[in-house]
Amino acid sequence: MKTLVIKGDSGAALGAELLQSGEIVAFPTETVYGLGALYDNVLAVEKIYEAKGRPKDNPLILHAYDAEMAEKVAFVDDKAQKLFEAFSPGPLTLILPKRDNVPMKVTCGLSTVGVRIPSHRVARELIRLAGAPVAAPSANLSGRPSPTSAKMVYEDMSGKIPLIIDGDDSKTGLESTIFDAKTNTVLRPGAVTKEMLEDCLGEKIYFAGLAGKDERPKAPGMKYRHYAPRAEVRLMEAGEIVDCISSGARSAVGVLASAEVKEKLSGLIPAENVFCYGKTGDLEAIAGNLYKGLAYFDSLTEVKLIFAQTVEEKGIGVAIMNRLNKAAAK
Ligand code: AMP
Ligand code: MG
Repeated sequence: MKTLVIKGDSGAALGAELLQSGEIVAFPTETVYGLGALYDNVLAVEKIYEAKGRPKDNPLILHAYDAEMAEKVAFVDDKAQKLFEAFSPGPLTLILPKRDNVPMKVTCGLSTVGVRIPSHRVARELIRLAGAPVAAPSANLSGRPSPTSAKMVYEDMSGKIPLIIDGDDSKTGLESTIFDAKTNTVLRPGAVTKEMLEDCLGEKIYFAGLAGKDERPKAPGMKYRHYAPRAEVRLMEAGEIVDCISSGARSAVGVLASAEVKEKLSGLIPAENVFCYGKTGDLEAIAGNLYKGLAYFDSLTEVKLIFAQTVEEKGIGVAIMNRLNKAAAK
C-alpha cells in the first residue's frame, strides 16, 4: 500500500473521506500523532491493532470534537463536564462510563471509555468532517516511541496505512494525561498536572502505579511495557554526566541532555553522540523533544548506553520523569 503524506486541511479532508470508507489514517494532535478509525467501525478499529501490532486487550481513546460529541459515546456527569470546561480542548483524557454504541473492541471489554477533545487545529478539522469520534492510539508500532512528527509516523507506518496527515511537530510531545474521575486517579501523567486537577476540583488526586505514598493499584492497560530504546538508559543529573564523560566514559555512550551539558561536553565526546533536548528547566521544550531524542539514539547503532539527564519533578516534569523511568526500566 502506498502511504500518502498530505499537509493540513487538504490532508484532513482526504482523511475524513478515508475514515468514512472504513480506512485508518494517521493525524497530528498536540500531544503525539494518532492512528485513527471511526469509533463504531469494528473492522477499521481492528486495522489499528493490526498496523501497530498492539496487544488486543489495550483499549483505545476516543477523540471528540467537543463535549457534545463526547456525550454521544460516554456519560458526562457534572464533574466530567467541569473538567472538560477547564482543560478541553487539550491534553486531558477522561475515563468515563461508556454508552452502548461504543464497540467492546474499542474498550477491550471495559464498561468505561477514555475520551479526549484534542486542540490541534487539523485534528479538530478531521473529527469535524468525519462527524463522529475517532478512536486512536499513538501512531507508532507497539514498543516504539510515540511519534511527534509526520516523519516519525512514516518510519513506522509507511506501506501499512493509506494516509499520514502532516500537521508539523506535536507541541506537547508526550501522551495525554489520563484521569479516572470516579476514583480521582491519574492513570498516566501528562501536561495537565495533578496540581491543575486538584485546583480545578478542590479534591485530593492520586497517582496510579507510581512509587510513593499516593500510590493506587495499577489500572487496566498499564501492564504493557512502554517504549524503551535499544540502548540501556541511565538516569543521571547534569554534574554526574559531565563527570563520567570527563573521566573517560565516552565510547558507545550517547547523551540526552540540556544545552548547558552539551556545551560542557564539547570536545570530550563526538558531537553526534549528544542530543540536546532543550535548556535546563525548560520543561515544555524537553517534553517536546524527548521521544525525538530517544528515537535518535535508536538510529546510532554504535551507542550502547544512553546517559539521560533527569529533570525536576514539578509540572510536566512529572510526566517527563515517568517516561524516562519507563525508558530506563529494562
Ligand atoms: P495510547 O493511545 O497508546 O496512548 O494508550 C491509551 C491508554 O489509555 C491505554 O494504554 C490504556 O491504559 C488507557 N485507557 C484507554 N481506555 C481506558 C479505560 N477505559 N480505562 C482505563 N484506561 C484506559
Ligand atoms: Mg501509545
